[in-house]
Amino acid sequence: MKGKFLLAIDQGTSSSRTVIYDHDARMVSSAQQEFPQIYPQPGWVEHDPEAIWDSVTSVTRDALKKAGAAARDISAIGITNQRETTLLWDRDTGECVYNAIVWQDRRTAEYCQGLRNQGNEDAVSRKTGLRLDPYFSGTKIAWILDNVPGVRERAEAGKLAFGTVDCFLLWRLTGGRVHATDATNASRTLLFNIHTQEWDDDLLAMFSIPRAVLPAVRDCAADFGMAVDDCLGGEVPVCGMAGDQQAALIGQAGFEPGMTKSTYGTGCFVVANTGNEALHSENQLLTTIAMRMDGQVTYGLEGSVFVAGSAMQWLRDELRIIDAAPESEEIARRRGVVDDVYVVPAFAGLGAPYWDPDARGAVLGLTRGSGRDDIVTATLQSVAFQTCDLIDAMSEDGIKPSVIRVDGGMVANDWFLQFLADVLDIAVERPDNVESTVLGAAYLAGYQAGIVQSPAAIGDLWQRDALFEPQMEAAQRERLLSGWSDAVRRVRSDN
Ligand code: ADP
Repeated sequence: MKGKFLLAIDQGTSSSRTVIYDHDARMVSSAQQEFPQIYPQPGWVEHDPEAIWDSVTSVTRDALKKAGAAARDISAIGITNQRETTLLWDRDTGECVYNAIVWQDRRTAEYCQGLRNQGNEDAVSRKTGLRLDPYFSGTKIAWILDNVPGVRERAEAGKLAFGTVDCFLLWRLTGGRVHATDATNASRTLLFNIHTQEWDDDLLAMFSIPRAVLPAVRDCAADFGMAVDDCLGGEVPVCGMAGDQQAALIGQAGFEPGMTKSTYGTGCFVVANTGNEALHSENQLLTTIAMRMDGQVTYGLEGSVFVAGSAMQWLRDELRIIDAAPESEEIARRRGVVDDVYVVPAFAGLGAPYWDPDARGAVLGLTRGSGRDDIVTATLQSVAFQTCDLIDAMSEDGIKPSVIRVDGGMVANDWFLQFLADVLDIAVERPDNVESTVLGAAYLAGYQAGIVQSPAAIGDLWQRDALFEPQMEAAQRERLLSGWSDAVRRVRSDN
């Protein structure tokens, strides 16, 4: 077998990262670089495709250098990425015809509303598992085709290629030879039928998108082609690909139905493995492809909360009542559970299961004695309460996890994880390696390259760092959850 390392690229919303692992999934080196966010108008968010690409090549060079490794030392490359972000480029020159429109961008809200008014949502959701929302790629592609002069004609003539970030990076890494994505990324476009595993002609017609722009869709562990870019200094096969939340589920070895991971970074994303069943949510959750390996589709139920770790940044940067996020743990320990003050961090509306874009945040229940410690603790608690809302929705849809595996920057906070286990009344497990996303991409590459033998072998590599078991009395939990639902009711826009 060629090489002794795996190289994983994690192209995220605010930064790009490359990590090199040995064949036992131990990190050998890593490099990370932020790149600029572009806000052309309120509600619009773009990335410069060249800035994405430059950051990826630069961190890849750095990681190789730090590991003292050359292309011949790398067995395979895995890619994971910010999902839904949309690019369209010229097949001859590789140049994008417009900036990348980022998943957070809301410019197509009215367009989506129009399609909903025509009664399309149910059909879209049955086929794709998603909602008619600007979040997903479909309406972003339509916007570029309709608003950038000359682009529609070029697309119809087969001159342009669409891709999410994974696909764009693959195109560039292979020197423009391969136009492909994986099933998890395809499942976030609004164009992919998750039941038939095909691009859907009715959906393409609804959004007026020519089929000629679409990439081939492969398994998450597959032969994606040979990367030949200079940043590697030689040829390396690309063998793994998955969207970031799905990669995190793989990194957490969530291969069995019912296994659930919750990632706490800027926002919080919960994904539960539902096996070979595409469970249609009656509770506003998304149905998605969790992974596709060896031709077998595994579905997932997904819910997200827009504000998680970023609520700590709000305490630090706007309220200025903490100096750094970890201080929230000391404060909460000292203060203990708060049951009278509630913070609802609906700064950008409420995500699942409410989907209320017009809700705004609030601090409720203040009395003359309320102070900084109450607000900091209540803010931490709000992230756990929001997770509870997602897990409740999943339970109503028939998925009741017995344990939740957590990852992301915020899970360094033990107090938060204990409170989370308490209000969920479910055990919470933190792995040794909380960088599940990039690790998942490496596992996929390793699986295809024959280094990791099976999903079970990935399960064996998963190591628990800490277990948080529910300890709170039922009466206190119920009081807290009822206080929270009261608080949410008061911030909702239809109130
Ligand atoms: P992302 O990948 O979305 O950039 P990370 O996974 O790096 O995010 O997590 C960073 C987030 O975690 C920040 O929003 C930060 O406020 C939060 N965070 C980091 N450490 C702690 C802590 N000890 N307690 C609470 N929140 C924390």
